[in-house]
Amino acid sequence: MVLRSTDKFATKAIHAGAHIDIHGSVIEPISLSTTFKQSAPAQPLGEYEYSRSQNPNRKNLEEAIASLENAKHGLAFSSGSATTAVVLQSLPQGSHAVSIGDVYGGTHRYFTKVANAHGVDTTFTNDLLKELPSLIKANTKLVWIESPTNPTLKVTDIELVNKTVKKINKDILVVVDNTFLSPYLSNPLNFGVDLVVHSATKYINGHSDVVLGVLATNNTELYERLQFLQNAIGAIPSPFDSWLVHRGLKTLHLRVRQAALTATKIAEYLEKSNQVVAVNYPGLESHPDRAVVVKQHRDGLGGGMISFRIKGGAEAAAKFSSSTRLFTLAESLGGVESLLEVPAVMTHGGIPKEQREASGVYDDLIRLSVGIEDTEDLLQDVEEALKAAAQ
Ligand SMILES: *Cc1c(COP(=O)(O)O)cnc(C)c1O
Repeated sequence: MVLRSTDKFATKAIHAGAHIDIHGSVIEPISLSTTFKQSAPAQPLGEYEYSRSQNPNRKNLEEAIASLENAKHGLAFSSGSATTAVVLQSLPQGSHAVSIGDVYGGTHRYFTKVANAHGVDTTFTNDLLKELPSLIKANTKLVWIESPTNPTLKVTDIELVNKTVKKINKDILVVVDNTFLSPYLSNPLNFGVDLVVHSATKYINGHSDVVLGVLATNNTELYERLQFLQNAIGAIPSPFDSWLVHRGLKTLHLRVRQAALTATKIAEYLEKSNQVVAVNYPGLESHPDRAVVVKQHRDGLGGGMISFRIKGGAEAAAKFSSSTRLFTLAESLGGVESLLEVPAVMTHGGIPKEQREASGVYDDLIRLSVGIEDTEDLLQDVEEALKAAAQ
């Protein structure tokens, strides 16, 4: 089956990289062999030699990822963090990078504690668009965007940032971590950026049972450099994990759409509640970057992530998050099951209070990852937990 360029997202999700094998298997077999027979020295029978360099399941997944991100090329890694590491490892020694301030904690850690050790220096900014022109230096090689941000869900105008960067120096790579939206809601490469990365652990796999990372690009030279590093560093996903993620992404459009529709209802409810101080959700008309959301996200959908400040401080946040029935108190996001967490003491606990509050992460902030349980049941769960927290 050959996909057409006119095929829509759902068709690509089901069929991209889903090749029928010589037995006619509708679902690809899991290819565990680490090595592949050659007919003569340096003459492999097919396209595979050794499973770190390439494996059939990984290749199929990479093809599917490229298709969903409207990219020429895709690559898969053992985690989202390994993907970030390989991208930053590709920068020459002495490079400078600019990153949005409230980037994923592990990305911040890699920039400041690992990349700096090989001479890559990073500047963080909470106002990328405004400060970019003054932050870009002669040795700036990369700009890192995450949109929406975690956990306050600020949205960046990707097209505008990319244009601003390229006007200053067209060789600076612009990278978008698209984990929070998934390729269903947004395709950053359409806005001209060089590279999109994901923690597929979240929405792309969607079942909270695999840690894996992916990237996609239209730049063949960049792809070849990153593919070289994928093999040289060896942070590759297993055939089974690749297979699971490929299976998971076939329902990405259904899961993300449903989560976003329910999240909109919950966010609207929270916004009206007198027990809530503030709601951060890109799907709300009141979101400060709503115009960018409408331009940048499919159907203006806000995604499955919400954060809100509850009245009553840290105590109320703790009470709320231990009172839900369906939302499980746990880190991570993007699975079929609803989760919640209190960033100030969980995912963002390592950040000094002052710095954390400067980007909106107060002690009373609760983050919801809305799953695909019944909308009414989830709404009721939030209502009941708010009541419990008020007591
Ligand atoms: C989870 C996450 C990562 C890291 O991915 P892992 O698969 O956990 O290594 C990177 N970026 C974002 C936005 C994430 O949520």
